[in-house]
Amino acid sequence: MITKKILNWYDNNKRSLPWRARCSAKKKEYFTLVSEFMLQQTQVKTVIPYFNNFLKDIPNLQSLAKVSEAKLLKHWQGLGYYSRAKNLKKSAKMIIDNYSGRLPNNFEELKKLPGVGDYTASAVSAIAFNQQIIPLDGNIERVLKRILNLKTEEEIKKENLHKQKKIFGKTSRSSDYAQALMEIGALLCKPKNPYCYKCPITKNCLSFKRKDFEIKKKDKKIIDKFYLATLYKNNNQLLLIKNDKFKFLKNLLIFPMKEITQSDSLLKSSKKLNVKMSNMNMNISIDFSYIKNKPKNGMWIEKTKLENYMIPTFTKKIFASVKHNL
Ligand code: SF4
Repeated sequence: MITKKILNWYDNNKRSLPWRARCSAKKKEYFTLVSEFMLQQTQVKTVIPYFNNFLKDIPNLQSLAKVSEAKLLKHWQGLGYYSRAKNLKKSAKMIIDNYSGRLPNNFEELKKLPGVGDYTASAVSAIAFNQQIIPLDGNIERVLKRILNLKTEEEIKKENLHKQKKIFGKTSRSSDYAQALMEIGALLCKPKNPYCYKCPITKNCLSFKRKDFEIKKKDKKIIDKFYLATLYKNNNQLLLIKNDKFKFLKNLLIFPMKEITQSDSLLKSSKKLNVKMSNMNMNISIDFSYIKNKPKNGMWIEKTKLENYMIPTFTKKIFASVKHNL
């Protein structure tokens, strides 16, 4: 019953998203792959214009496998987590080389593709191949927790959530069903103030019955890190280097930077900046200096042209915080 109610609601209320456009099976595979990579860590409304521009320029697996890194990263600029873009290109190459240009329709084979973990493999299996799998993204997880009013540490463990997914039942429309559950989470079962009055499954929902909509989450450990960024100036130019040192945002242009201790950071009287990135709380001290010789992995960039380069958000924030002193 719950399956029918959810699918009926979806048929009448689903958003028209570009990756849901009617198209051939081969195109659907490509649309699903690209959109699922973009949607890892990024919201639907942010992804839509990126997806459209990406598709205009890189319309299929063949063009993706051949695209230059600069063009690929330019398309990803602003979405963050750039390793996703690189893995997407590697996956395209692998699909062409090992799977005759068609996305494998098998969960285990999908997981062999770079950047495809359990979640993406299940989302692609369900959406592109109509397999009876419910991917557990943040939206579906919230709907599940609300329907069963799951609260305790034991109840909200991933393994338990996967077991509890059986309440969603089965349908031959698995692709629509996975998207319908995601859509209920995104449009109705919001983290705060869910729109229960529009929801098709109020009768099945324990949280609604108990009027208790609080969502329990596992504590995410935030790590404090301390860095010293040095801005080297040469007339109107600033020195940026290719990041081959830090594991995050590899190969992107950043200001020369090193990790320091918290006590070193307290000793510095320079400008301070705090930036949150994933589970890292970056405490950045900013210094200014001069340098004669450009390091091998560095380049001088005009201050006014910085915007034209692929630089990570935290580097942009460093620049924004000091540009009036430069
Ligand atoms: S009834 Fe309300 S809380 Fe329950 S699933 Fe629907 S929107 Fe979420």
